[in-house]
Amino acid sequence: MASLSFRKTSKTYPGGVTAIHGVNMEIADGEFIVIVGPSGCGKSTLLRMVAGLESVSAGEILIDEEVINELEPAERDIAMVFQNYALYPHMSVYDNMAYGLRIRGMRRDAIRERVEAVAQTLELTPLLTRRPRHLSGGQRQRVAMGRAIVREPRVFLFDEPLSNLDAKLRVQMRLEIQKLHRRLATTSLYVTHDQVEAMTLAQRMIVMNQGRVEQIGTPAEVFERP
Ligand code: ADP
Ligand code: ADP
Repeated sequence: MASLSFRKTSKTYPGGVTAIHGVNMEIADGEFIVIVGPSGCGKSTLLRMVAGLESVSAGEILIDEEVINELEPAERDIAMVFQNYALYPHMSVYDNMAYGLRIRGMRRDAIRERVEAVAQTLELTPLLTRRPRHLSGGQRQRVAMGRAIVREPRVFLFDEPLSNLDAKLRVQMRLEIQKLHRRLATTSLYVTHDQVEAMTLAQRMIVMNQGRVEQIGTPAEVFERP
């Protein structure tokens, strides 16, 4: 768990597109933030900068008062869940979940304990020996979620994690994410196009437009505005 701050954070891509224009905001320890806004407004860029998958062009991103701009992705203690799951196809579910812990040098029995506990919570236990291609879309998304959770990161980043699922599974996974947040209270940034997801998951919502934060507030505050 951790607080997350943006101080005049900007991103200009090498081609000259400025995707983020001097964003300032403070996200409290344990807060669940949902980011909405039209396609191309900079939502992914913002998340990718936090994860360290894109560099920051100007300004700062801080976790617990520490500037993280220059840290390697692996040093940031952040886990990201993607729309396309991004699982390792040649690894079993178990190994997909264990991988991030192995590269950090965690002890084998400690890894096993954590992977098995998270698998149980997400009802993945019977699938641990399977490869991703033998899983349904919903199961793959659970594995992607499990892989993030086992790391016990300081911050979770979700980039439209449910948009490839059918309507029924989306509802189910949304409830699951809600439950997880109640239990773990990990600081989370969640990007979605789905208004119901935004309304039900967000403690505060951020509305972005053209690389800027246009509104920030509770779902009620944001949706009540004319
Ligand atoms: P969103 O996630 O809200 O759809 P993005 O963060 O993907 O928005 O994109 C914000 C802006 O940055 C868009 O104008 C997009 O075309 C541009 N952009 C995104 N990725 C790159 C990139 N790798 N190189 C150049 N421009 C990019
Ligand atoms: P050891 O066999 O010495 O305990 P590991 O814990 O690394 O070593 O397990 C070896 C391999 O067995 C793992 O890479 C993983 O593929 C598989 N494995 C371990 N535990 C499970 C489990 N609960 N379910 C499915 N596969 C497992």
